[in-house]
Amino acid sequence: MKTMLRKRLVLKEPYYSIIRVIGFILLIIIGLFIYYRYEMNSLLELNYSEKASKNILFSFKKKEVVAIGENKTLNAAFESDLYNEKYFDRYSRIEYQNQDNLIRNINTLIKKKYTNSEISIILSHGNDSDVTEFSKRDKVRYVEEFFAYDFAKLSLYDRYVNYSNVTGDDEETTVIYVNLDMDKTPYEEATEVKDFSINMLVNKHFKLDEDFVPKDLVKVNKKYTDEDDIQLNQETYNAFIELYNAASSEGLGLVINSAYRSYQDQTELNDFYFKHYGQSYIDKYVAKPGFSEHQTGLCFDIGSTTSNVFANSKEYPWMLENAYKYGFIQRFPSEYEYITGFRSESWHFRYVGKKAAKEIHDNDMSYEEYYARFLMK
Ligand code: ZN
Repeated sequence: MKTMLRKRLVLKEPYYSIIRVIGFILLIIIGLFIYYRYEMNSLLELNYSEKASKNILFSFKKKEVVAIGENKTLNAAFESDLYNEKYFDRYSRIEYQNQDNLIRNINTLIKKKYTNSEISIILSHGNDSDVTEFSKRDKVRYVEEFFAYDFAKLSLYDRYVNYSNVTGDDEETTVIYVNLDMDKTPYEEATEVKDFSINMLVNKHFKLDEDFVPKDLVKVNKKYTDEDDIQLNQETYNAFIELYNAASSEGLGLVINSAYRSYQDQTELNDFYFKHYGQSYIDKYVAKPGFSEHQTGLCFDIGSTTSNVFANSKEYPWMLENAYKYGFIQRFPSEYEYITGFRSESWHFRYVGKKAAKEIHDNDMSYEEYYARFLMK
């Protein structure tokens, strides 16, 4: 008992100095922590994430980052395990995209000697897997030429190069035509369109399945047609009634001669023309089943109540001037045969909605071009 007490007394002095040392260390730790939080906050305020801010501090880059300010690519770089200090400046100059392998792909593209602006362009023209695929290949030329157009697609790069080599077309034309699959064989290599929408494109490169039926088909009132069973998509029909009333109020007479045609109807039509006029007539004038816009329920062949030849009627120039106000366009004008793939048809009008119809009318372009520029995913 006695010896234990003595031992405790002996320990007393160093025991206090240990507490002092620990206290001092604690003060330093608390001080450092406060300083750390303060430094973190200035990065968090610039919208760097907690993880990125921490990595910025521990790589002693805070001053540089604060000088640059908010920068999403830099944030992604500091969040990533693939951050490469050599590329600090380059990350800050490359436009951010929300892609899983963003930093991995940027690193690869930098190594392949692409410039910052080329890398920004590449990243913005495809999704994560397009960019990943693209970054695997050797450095290519004409990135800034083809991808100056925001509707150009990274995945189609080789086809752009081939097409422009073969045709000599400029980059913009090339991108539009290749996006529309015009470098592929019509009918044979057509892409199948599955979803109905008022903006859908159907032509010799975009086909409908045998079972495709448009949404909301309704029967057209006999007031608007001399035929027995004419059907249109409901929205198209409503727009047509507005158009019809506007024409009537100016003393003009419109009549629908044909509208929705099923795959089966189009097959029968092909058979009929084959019997009476032969294959070469069909090739020129009649769409094959699955390739006719009539299967969408969004278009009709219009006639005049006063003239047998629509192109000579007074309704025709009125339609060209006014149909767009109700959401319709002349689908196959003679000047666009090369891109629509169909002979000019003065009577065939297609519903695309008022916004698209106005833009197409004001800028005088084909529906194919409008689709490739603004609607295609
Ligand atoms: Zn038609």
